[in-house]
Amino acid sequence: MTIETDVLIIGAGPTGLMLGCELRRCGIDCVVVDRSARIDRRTRAVMVHAASLEQLEQLGLRTKIERKGVRQRRIVFHLHHSAHYTIDFSSLDTRYPYYLNVPQPEVEEVLAAEFKKLGGTLVRGLGYVSHQETGNGVSSDLASAIGPVRIDSQYLVGADGAGSTVRTGLGVEFPGVTYPMSYLLAEGQPVVPPPPDSSAMYVGRSGSVSLLPLPGGTIRVAGPVSSELLDRDETLPLERFQDTVDRLGFGNTLRLAHADRVAQYQVHERLADRFRVGRVLLAGDAAHLNSPAGGQAMNTGFGDAAALAWRLGQLVRDSNLGIDLLDGYAHERRATARAVARSTGVLGVLQSMREATSGAEQALVRARLSGLAEAWSQLYLTYPAATSPTGEAQLFRGPHRIRPGARIPGLRPVAGLFTLLVRPGQVADALRNASRLPVGAHIDELTPQQASWLPAGATAALVRPDRHVAVVLPQLTTTTQRQAIAGLREEVPA
Ligand SMILES: Cc1cc2nc3c(=O)[nH]c(=O)nc-3n(C[C@H](O)[C@H](O)[C@H](O)COP(=O)(O)OP(=O)(O)OC[C@H]3O[C@@H](n4cnc5c(N)ncnc54)[C@H](O)[C@@H]3O)c2cc1C
Repeated sequence: MTIETDVLIIGAGPTGLMLGCELRRCGIDCVVVDRSARIDRRTRAVMVHAASLEQLEQLGLRTKIERKGVRQRRIVFHLHHSAHYTIDFSSLDTRYPYYLNVPQPEVEEVLAAEFKKLGGTLVRGLGYVSHQETGNGVSSDLASAIGPVRIDSQYLVGADGAGSTVRTGLGVEFPGVTYPMSYLLAEGQPVVPPPPDSSAMYVGRSGSVSLLPLPGGTIRVAGPVSSELLDRDETLPLERFQDTVDRLGFGNTLRLAHADRVAQYQVHERLADRFRVGRVLLAGDAAHLNSPAGGQAMNTGFGDAAALAWRLGQLVRDSNLGIDLLDGYAHERRATARAVARSTGVLGVLQSMREATSGAEQALVRARLSGLAEAWSQLYLTYPAATSPTGEAQLFRGPHRIRPGARIPGLRPVAGLFTLLVRPGQVADALRNASRLPVGAHIDELTPQQASWLPAGATAALVRPDRHVAVVLPQLTTTTQRQAIAGLREEVPA
């Protein structure tokens, strides 16, 4: 059997399904396949951060997902000595100044239903085996219980998780490290119910665990524990889990009256050498792996989907564009995955907390924690310039500036369209010059707060469909717009 589509996505995990939804919103034909017959009910990710909530809102899915989760305003760190520390999410520049604890299978269920509602084709029980690039497309061989299937597409995306067969098939290396610590996880009913709107981290001498409230009054207790506390058991009975966690010394606070699930993970940090080979792209865990602390990996996969969808949309719609448009995806998202690994880890801060006994040392810990809510939220992500091959992406808030690569928190672009954001009161001028805008660009006003982020002398900013600034315009005339658009090179068809 042979099927044809514009974009074939391997893997119906959160990344593949989010990409499918984003592409369908842009009207692009796509097929998502997964070798597994059903959604894996074992929860891995639970933390959904603010940038992802903005993305879900744009898809009309945030409320549905919020109903299946619990909002978290802060994370409180508890130690044996009197000090405690807090990461507070309430001052993020967004309508959603919090993060959500929601089980990953629930997120996947909502995304899968939306993808199908938008007219996407989701086929389970179909595994990717291999592919060949043809002149202007990719031909993929897949296997199912009822026989082989071939799918011809213009582009192929490997969103097939950490052990990605697509990545292996491309011969792309996945270098990195495996942490010496084990990551323990149990979910169930607590002995002592925690406050429902804040998560906590309990820091002991040789390990630390998070306590995350989940829907229905259940909790997750999870975290890295040193190998001295845990032999590498294959299976982990609840008694062994509880005994290990008890040794951190926080008593009943971390006790489960009843566990639905107990698991043990090895934690890896890896980054694919390349995110694009010809017409084949890697996204999500297939491209990057992070420690679960801080809950970044699935959220970064959602960001990959946003960054890839608009570019694939433009390429499918306009055959005159060159596929090197996708280099921007590879460059920006690889830099983002590096920044996430560099800026969001907490193991070093946890060690400083254990050692900080004086007021001055504790102040240093507080300084290291400040900005972590912003970094974890991914709201302030700024991409490096396209001209800087080794450039670093930034995740911290810093002083706000609307500049190329910066993400504009709170912006709600129309699906797949560029937005020309103009100073308040200048929409009429912009409309007069609209003939030179990218096809179908949407014109909107900056809020007074956003306008204050424009550099002196600038009048407007052209923003990509993934909310990142493409170009800042000094004056809103036909000539400056034309120059700006020419400056975007292949990224915007003028
Ligand atoms: C304990 C734990 C806690 C975590 N907590 C968080 C958190 O709080 N927040 C966060 O952001 N992230 C968290 N993560 C990470 C998160 O779970 C992953 O980043 C996320 O699942 C990645 O999504 P994905 O779609 O890229 O890959 P996956 O979820 O791995 O999905 C890949 C899909 O591809 C399919 N597949 C594989 N090979 C093939 C093939 N050959 N053909 C067809 N289909 C194939 C698989 O069946 C699977 O459905 C956590 C991870 C762990 C282990």
